[in-house]
Amino acid sequence: MKKVSIPFTYELIENSTFNDEEKLLATEASAALQKSYAPYSNFKVACSILLENGEIVSGANQEVAAYPVCICAEGVALSTASSQYPNVALKALFIVAQNVKGLVFNAAPCGVCRQRIVEYEQRFNNEIAIYLPQSETQTIKVDTAKTLLPLSFTGDKLK
Ligand SMILES: [Zn+2]
Repeated sequence: MKKVSIPFTYELIENSTFNDEEKLLATEASAALQKSYAPYSNFKVACSILLENGEIVSGANQEVAAYPVCICAEGVALSTASSQYPNVALKALFIVAQNVKGLVFNAAPCGVCRQRIVEYEQRFNNEIAIYLPQSETQTIKVDTAKTLLPLSFTGDKLK
């Protein structure tokens, strides 16, 4: 048997050093929290996405009493991006969350959303950076969704 390790590397960024795009992504994600519909969990999540053409789209989680039907913020934002700009690659995602007590840090994408994001990377053959606030002052950045989902499912391997 041979053991193989898959490295996990991320940057921990001081929010005060955000460039203009990062500042805009953070602002748009925070604003999108207001569009969350989460009366059941009171856990609001929002996601902003920077597209290759410079546009930013955002989305927030949308709940339904039948929980499996709920849509994650990332799913809403990705679907919005793909619907409005079907041929434009995505460059970065910024994810924020909040509960009744205030901001929630390290709200990393669920497994389903990781698969969704990786698929957009495969679709446009580019890497999508993901930003996850860790505190009021620091944010994790990974350069590619594949970092969060190594050995992701690809339909190509079934052909
Ligand atoms: Zn999700």
